[in-house]
Amino acid sequence: MRTVTVVGASLAGLYAARALRAEGFDGRLVIVGAERHRPYDRPPLSKSFLTQRPPGAKELEDLRLCDGDEEDALAAEWHLGTRATALDTVGRTVTLDDGRTVRALRTDGVVIATGAVPRTLPGPPLAGVHVLRTYDDAHALRTALHDGTPRVVVIGGGFIGAEAASSCAALGLPVTVVEAAPLPLVPQLGTELARICADLHADHGVRLLCGTGVAGLRDDGTGRLRAVELADGRLLDADLVIVGIGVRPAIDWLTGSGLRLDDGVVCDAGGMTDVPQVVAAGDVARCAGTRTEHWTSATEQPATAVRNLLAGRTVARHEALPYFWSDQYGARLQLAGRPGPQDAVRIIEGDPGDRSFLAVYERDGRTTAVFAVDRPRPFMRLRRRLATDPPGPHGLSGPPAEPADAPGAAFWPCCSAASAHRCAAPTPGA
Ligand code: FAD
Ligand code: NAP
Repeated sequence: MRTVTVVGASLAGLYAARALRAEGFDGRLVIVGAERHRPYDRPPLSKSFLTQRPPGAKELEDLRLCDGDEEDALAAEWHLGTRATALDTVGRTVTLDDGRTVRALRTDGVVIATGAVPRTLPGPPLAGVHVLRTYDDAHALRTALHDGTPRVVVIGGGFIGAEAASSCAALGLPVTVVEAAPLPLVPQLGTELARICADLHADHGVRLLCGTGVAGLRDDGTGRLRAVELADGRLLDADLVIVGIGVRPAIDWLTGSGLRLDDGVVCDAGGMTDVPQVVAAGDVARCAGTRTEHWTSATEQPATAVRNLLAGRTVARHEALPYFWSDQYGARLQLAGRPGPQDAVRIIEGDPGDRSFLAVYERDGRTTAVFAVDRPRPFMRLRRRLATDPPGPHGLSGPPAEPADAPGAAFWPCCSAASAHRCAAPTPGA
């Protein structure tokens, strides 16, 4: 391949560019990004970025994902503030629109890394209503949050909602979170642990209203937000709304490309589409039926996708264990693995009442996932074990509670005292 074009100049796009060079690709590397900024990190945008008051607050420079030296080493051609508007997989061109000119770029390979865009509420735009995806969104939101004492309503109790509410509470603002589902974060955590996390809101004086959607936003007659009307008829006075009701993959530009699109770019487990010269990675990629919207996947998937792109067929699969973290109300939530809705949850360390504990999800006697609130070190140990040493039928429950009675063997706490079986001792240092 002489030219590879990476579309999307953010996390997955940057990691794809790095992987291309690491794999020895020495041809023309083009990186196209709709935002005018060089790649920057999004996670701080809902957390410390919002709570710090300028001057002295984090700025774009502090969020940069690569410095000038690395940019030089990548030897890439950057097209920022430029949107890809079409992909022709037969003619092998990407159409680029920088707002002034539209042109077709010939390319031999394409990495699709266009991520996702926030879902919005229907209705005309109103002053005071914010989404949170980009640096520009976060900058506008921070400016508004630090202007007086706005009454904040957060719509959606998922990750954006919980983290933004936590940041607003840290600023001392009155906050209400409105969640359509009976409980937030159930798809990610299951009911039991989602309930514990939902309690974090009340702990910090944030009102959580579940089981009701939003009927509409009311304006004050001048185009500025005045209140949020709930589906059950209640009216919440509000000066500022943060809409965090999920995202949709950024695939509009691929309509007509011939690629399969279905809640993302449909790919195999290696990020390979039906066209061997086109791969996808990050939030936009639906790999082997699953689309992941987390930082770690966006950094891990590109290496696999790029190997396959350069090979022209799937030679590698992305098999890493899903992982995410979230910082809410001073607590770090972490989850690794693939919990299922029917899994049993067992607390193996700490106490949810103290907002510090370690839990495992179990199915058919196997550990499927590990979750922690403010237990980063034991969590990381179990995460590593879950990834490298798939648990046996008795799950992953930590080191033996009692001394082993024979070298190399131990009863694990997960095994009932009545059961006669033995489980392998944990890997040293795991
Ligand atoms: P994106 O970061 O969405 O980047 C896609 C890029 O492509 C964008 O710059 C976009 O402008 C560009 N683009 C889109 N369409 C086009 C086009 N047609 N042409 C050219 N360019 C285009 N994950 C965690 O695990 N933990 C966290 O704590 C966490 N916190 C987060 C906080 C916030 C506020 C947000 C928004 C996300 C957070 N995430 C977190 C999720 C994580 O940041 C994403 O999973 C990650 O950014 C995905 O990277 P990506 O490169 O696939 O997509
Ligand atoms: P999300 O996690 O999908 O949560 C959206 C929530 O809003 C869901 O609980 C959803 O309920 C609810 N909702 C949907 N429509 C609603 C409505 N009209 N009224 C009230 N509630 C409504 O998405 P997000 O929080 O917006 O986050 C956006 C993206 O950023 C995601 O990709 C997320 O992974 C990423 N992010 C990740 C982190 C992290 O990992 N720490 C942090 C911030 C952002 P239903 O499920 O019932 O639709």
